[in-house]
Amino acid sequence: MDDRGVRRVMRKPLVVGNWKMNGSRRSSIELAGNVANSFSIGGRVECAVCPPNVFLADVAAVLVDSDVGLGAQNVSQYEKGAYTGDVSASMLVEFTCAYVLVGHSERRACFGETSSQVAEKFVAAQGKELTPILCVGETLVERQADRAFEVIAEQLDAVVAAAGLNALAAAVIAYEPVWAIGTGEVASPAQAQEILAFIRGRLGEAAGTTRLLYGGSVNAENAAQLFEQQDIDGALVGGASLQAEQFMAICQIAET
Ligand code: PEP
Repeated sequence: MDDRGVRRVMRKPLVVGNWKMNGSRRSSIELAGNVANSFSIGGRVECAVCPPNVFLADVAAVLVDSDVGLGAQNVSQYEKGAYTGDVSASMLVEFTCAYVLVGHSERRACFGETSSQVAEKFVAAQGKELTPILCVGETLVERQADRAFEVIAEQLDAVVAAAGLNALAAAVIAYEPVWAIGTGEVASPAQAQEILAFIRGRLGEAAGTTRLLYGGSVNAENAAQLFEQQDIDGALVGGASLQAEQFMAICQIAET
C-alpha cells in the first residue's frame, strides 16, 4: 500500500493516439504503417491509435501483425436500430477495436453529450468487451472558479451510477483539461497529478490497477515530466499522434 492506502501494483503505461477527424484514407494507412513499423518496445508499453471510423478497416489491416492496438473515437449508447449515423459497440468489435474513447470533451462540447449519455456509452462499450477510455476534465472557466474537482466528480459519478465502481475501475480514465486540448498549453505536471490523484482516490479497492492517462497538448518535449508523476500511467495524444515520429517518441518516453 502507498501512503494513501492504494495498493501498489505495476501498471503498464498506455499511450493512445486520437487522430480526430483528420487525414485521408491513404494518409491513415501510411501513418498506421509508420507507427506499426517503429513500435518495438517489447511489451513494456502499450500503444493504440484511434482513427476516424471510416478508416478502421484499413488501419486494422495494417496493424494486424503489430503490437499496436486499435480504438475508436466514439460509440453509440444503443445496440442497434434506427439511430442514423451511429456506430455500435459490436460493430467496433468486428473491426478489432479494443478501446473506445467515451466522453471526449469535443463530444461533450460540440455535440452536447451529457454525463449520463456518456455513462450509457461507457456501459454499451463494456457490454461488448471494449475497454472504454473515459475522458473527463474541466473548462478554463470552471478551473478559474475553483470547480475542477466538482466537475470531474460529477463526470465520474455519472458512470458509477450507471455501471458501478468496479466497472469504472476496470476502464481507462483520461484526465483532459479542456483548456489544454489542442491549445499548446499543457497542464503542469503538478496540476495533472493533483487531479489524477483525486480520481484514483475515488476508485475504491481496485484503484491501484486502473490506468490513468493525462491528455492535453502532450508532445515529446513535455511527456517525460508528466510521466514522472505517481498517478500518470500514460497519455491520450491528439495533435502529436498525427506524426509517427512524435508519437513514437512519446511511447519511448513512457517506457523509461
Ligand atoms: C485530445 O484530443 O484528446 C488531445 C489531448 O488533443 P491534443 O493532444 O492535441 O491536445
